[in-house]
Amino acid sequence: MIANRQIAFAARPEGRPAAETFIMREAPMPVPEAGEILCRNLWLSVDPYLRLKMHDRESYTPPLQIGETIPGRSVAEVIEARAHGFSKGDLVAVSGGWQDFAAVPAKAAKLIPLRTPHPTAYLGPLGMTGETAYAGLLQIGKPKPGETLVVSAAAGAVGGLVGQIGKVKGCRVVGIAGSQEKCRFVTEELKFDACVNYRTPDFARALKKACPNGVDIYFDNVGGPVTETVLPLVNTFARMPLCGLISQYDGQQAGDPRALAELMRWILVRRITIRGFIVYDIAPNFPDFEGEMTKWLDEGLVVSREHLSEGFDNIVPAFLGLLGGENTGKSIVRIAEPSSLL
Ligand code: NDP
Repeated sequence: MIANRQIAFAARPEGRPAAETFIMREAPMPVPEAGEILCRNLWLSVDPYLRLKMHDRESYTPPLQIGETIPGRSVAEVIEARAHGFSKGDLVAVSGGWQDFAAVPAKAAKLIPLRTPHPTAYLGPLGMTGETAYAGLLQIGKPKPGETLVVSAAAGAVGGLVGQIGKVKGCRVVGIAGSQEKCRFVTEELKFDACVNYRTPDFARALKKACPNGVDIYFDNVGGPVTETVLPLVNTFARMPLCGLISQYDGQQAGDPRALAELMRWILVRRITIRGFIVYDIAPNFPDFEGEMTKWLDEGLVVSREHLSEGFDNIVPAFLGLLGGENTGKSIVRIAEPSSLL
């Protein structure tokens, strides 16, 4: 019998998760029902929102339960199809979870076109990551040529795409990232106009210098002290797509007790529009997303870097590394090769 390796939630972490937060186990191979496809996961996405799901409190998705297999997007190969439109050997993007095999509803599977040179793009720019950047920036940020767009976690998966889309739309784009090396990547490879390292004592002054005309759009991926530093620079009628708050996900920061009052003051004084969004709420408003992003990728207007880890044993380290800022670009773990390559 072929076993299905799985990584499950073992214990709710206090603060930063660790190896003990997870347990590896083996389960029987799932059996697909009518309307389902049986998939072998090849590449897994690791994502910050999973940290939010580890708290036992209200969020936009239910909390993880102890013993639950960790969910997540994957690019997988169909090994048995009990649904029309799919065949053995197809590559699909699915919610396959952190495991070798998954039986998933075919209607929730995205068929990856044959001969796609980079199937993992369906976890990055052509997947949820790209939809988040595209829909969040266009619908809430409403970029206009000549405006200044500031993006936090700029060397990460979503942030790197947001800034490049902002460049396509004619904005001056300024990134914020956690090291000089990441800032170099953001300006040299992603072609942002500037990037500022938030871990230097000079951060506030350097950010102000990089935004001589103030900030019209702040695409926030991190919250906390980075956002507090951006706020005084925003212009009247600025827009803030609130995408993520990764600096807060561990839930242990004491925080400045005046921060909320300051935030409310800036919202009023500068008439800022802040809107939180979750990708699945707004992505359906953009049916042209895949076509337009594919075109930008083909034309080299958008480039995508992957932070690739190898092997099932590296899923948990890749996730912990993501929370610690070890990744540059989209964090992906390869756990198997497509059978055509075996
Ligand atoms: P990234 O690839 O951007 O990786 C996370 C990055 O966050 C790290 O590389 C690190 O970069 C940065 N980071 C970690 N801790 C801190 C901190 N304390 N302060 C500032 N930066 C920090 O991940 P994603 O692109 O997948 O996600 C980015 C954000 O978007 C997350 O907040 C995520 O939850 C959110 N998201 C929201 C979605 C939605 O629908 N609203 C959908 C997808 C993602 P550095 O070295 O620069 O610190």
